[in-house]
Amino acid sequence: MIHAPNAVARLRDQREDEGIKPIQARGWRAPRCRDCRVIQSHCLCAWRPKVESRSGVCLIMTGKEVFKPSNTGWLIADVVRDNHAFIWSRTDTDERLLALLNDPQRQPYLVFPGEYVEPSRVTHTVTPDGGKRPLFILLDATWTEARKIFRKSPYFDRLPILSLLPDRLSRYRLRRSTRSEHLCTAEVAALCLELAGDSDAASALDAYFDVFSQHYLGAKQQREVNVSTPAHAELLPFIDAAPAVPA
Ligand SMILES: [Zn+2]
Repeated sequence: MIHAPNAVARLRDQREDEGIKPIQARGWRAPRCRDCRVIQSHCLCAWRPKVESRSGVCLIMTGKEVFKPSNTGWLIADVVRDNHAFIWSRTDTDERLLALLNDPQRQPYLVFPGEYVEPSRVTHTVTPDGGKRPLFILLDATWTEARKIFRKSPYFDRLPILSLLPDRLSRYRLRRSTRSEHLCTAEVAALCLELAGDSDAASALDAYFDVFSQHYLGAKQQREVNVSTPAHAELLPFIDAAPAVPA
């Protein structure tokens, strides 16, 4: 292993130790890398960026999401050094999550669409006071699950809601030529980092997400890894040594 496991990897390991197993998806018999979850021939580990950021992230996940090889919260935790992840439970709240939300060094923002929230709680900018470091709380779940988590977690009630404005979202889509209407968790996190002024981490995460998608799809479609793509080039400044291009 060349990297320390991120918070999502530790959650997965912990679930496995408790005897909880992922539901095996069909057609995924090939062995996966433990550290990046991609099929070994398309391993992403050499492309994991090293980048500084002031912001931290805290992923609130469902038990299923932790095991999904396509989960993109994992990528955020790879890029942002100050990363935390919790499995949400309505009845059993992790004390460490509450401690994190109450940390006087941090300013937590719950990232959620503003139209579902009382307007007085909504903000569109990241301006922590007193030199606090932003902590982005991301609900890494399906939309239905995310709404439920939002409604049934009283400890979130006092947090400001960071809502990404539609014009920012559409500019982001244009710039990245994202085809899907909904941004995935990694893309939302990249926008949050950008808002916080962590532009290196934002660029690294965007490029890392693209590289992940290419490796993941390449493995699925049994295509050779192509590391000569624009996304790989964008990542180069953030990795220690360029991985060897296979002949
Ligand atoms: Zn790997």
